[in-house]
Amino acid sequence: MDVPLLISDLIRHAHRHHGSTEIVSKTVEDGAIHRTTYAEAHRRSRRLAKALRGLGVRMHDRVATLAWNGYRHFEIYYAVAGTGAVIHTINPRLFPEQIVYIANHAEDRVLCFDVNLAPLVEKLAPHLKTVEAFVAMTARATMPRAQIPNLHCYEDLVEAQDDRLEWPSFDERSAACLCYTSGTTGNPKGALYSHRSTMLHAYAAALPDALNLSARDVILPVVPMFHVNAWGLPYSCAATGAKLVFPAHHLDGKSLHELFEAEGVTMSAGVPTVWLALLNYMKEQGLKFSTLKGVVIGGSACPPAMIRAFQDDYGVKVLHAWGMTEMSPLGTVNTFKARHAGWRKEDRDALQNKQGRVLFGVDMRIVGEDGSALPHDGKAFGDLQVRGPWVVNGYFKGEGGSPLKDGWFPTGDVCTIDADGYIQITDRSKDVIKSGGEWISSIDLENIAVAHPAIQEAAVIGIRHSKWDERPIVVAVKKAGQEVSKEALLEFYRDKIAKWWLPDDVVFVAELPHTATGKLSKLTLRQQFKDYQLPR
Ligand code: ADP
Repeated sequence: MDVPLLISDLIRHAHRHHGSTEIVSKTVEDGAIHRTTYAEAHRRSRRLAKALRGLGVRMHDRVATLAWNGYRHFEIYYAVAGTGAVIHTINPRLFPEQIVYIANHAEDRVLCFDVNLAPLVEKLAPHLKTVEAFVAMTARATMPRAQIPNLHCYEDLVEAQDDRLEWPSFDERSAACLCYTSGTTGNPKGALYSHRSTMLHAYAAALPDALNLSARDVILPVVPMFHVNAWGLPYSCAATGAKLVFPAHHLDGKSLHELFEAEGVTMSAGVPTVWLALLNYMKEQGLKFSTLKGVVIGGSACPPAMIRAFQDDYGVKVLHAWGMTEMSPLGTVNTFKARHAGWRKEDRDALQNKQGRVLFGVDMRIVGEDGSALPHDGKAFGDLQVRGPWVVNGYFKGEGGSPLKDGWFPTGDVCTIDADGYIQITDRSKDVIKSGGEWISSIDLENIAVAHPAIQEAAVIGIRHSKWDERPIVVAVKKAGQEVSKEALLEFYRDKIAKWWLPDDVVFVAELPHTATGKLSKLTLRQQFKDYQLPR
């Protein structure tokens, strides 16, 4: 049958076949636990869809959110896309000027926000040229007192409608969601996903060698719903009937651990920075996980030391994943093949440090500077290019022109691909350190630094050098109460890398800069170190 792939089918399916499966949220308002089900979320998303129509939202219109992970955000995902409008998730941690830029660029008509972000919204409101209505995602009693024009109460809107609504059918190539890249250089650019691309991504993400989701799982997405749709989990979980647990903004080690334990979480997903905080807390408190079986770690390189800590100390399997906003976001996930079963632990560990194998649906290759394809031998490294039904072919409103090269999307990442198809990211092309005409991987050097017992976090950047072009330095944060000297850290590198890769200096700092998505901000760091002089 020629049935369009529409996001509304996910929630309809979850209602019909997993109706009593829970969606549990730690609330923004007071941190209390809220419980609902797929059935109830479906009913409420239909009522909300009617309310949004009442606010003037039509097919293709953009409805923005400034919100953490929670049940109301989940309902908005389905209410908006279900009726053919487009959900535009905005990262509240961006600079206010950036938020204003992207909301105006997207021409958002409605903005829904979590109440603890009301002060931010109050500041933004006068600058949002196209927003006609603001919706505070809360009940009447907890409405914010901020001066926000055309302010509506989410619960009142839902309350005023019934759930008699048939989701409309339309072309699966219609837009469903819009996410802006964090724009480390220039203005942020929008990646617009269609119903079709989102659905195909949801199928692929759920597969056993991808995120391995099922109706027996309890999934807690730490990755925010404003960061590439929480890596698609709100869709894949509805497809498989997995129970969802949403942490809102309560992402410290203690809150996460308590929620994992209280709700029997089996799998979670997030960027390395959050896991670092959780692992430190667990170690300090001498805690264990009683139900957690796996964590997906991606968004930036997962240090091998983190993989070992999860697996060897806590018995939690790490799924190292790679992707990007322009890829909806999943590209690769690291799981073994049958033939790796007999491998020695060291070899399996080394393989797991890689970013993994491609999901069916994505095709990839590496190319050299002249654009010619390089061999998949695990040694040759070049620019990684991808293509497939959930990869963008351009940015929203044609911003920046066509990014494609010979029909491939250039990722900006540099990597190797081995004969089994496992990729290993050496660097982002703009972070790789070019020394004497050769490349030094900043990721490799960072991974070694954080393997040192006294190092909490480390970033490696290239510093201009008159003879070699660039030389690497390590900027590191020590663990609380731990000591290590610069000389000792450099010594720690000595037997692990070629001599010319050895960093020229180590600088200890109290804190490293992070981007709005919790990744190390090398751009900020390079600015901070622009006048830095290498030791002679
Ligand atoms: P931004 O960093 O601009 O927020 P994305 O969230 O889309 O954009 O980040 C995508 C980039 O993050 C990739 O191109 C890659 O450089 C990096 N990245 C993602 N996952 C990994 C990983 N597992 N290992 C190394 N780098 C990664």
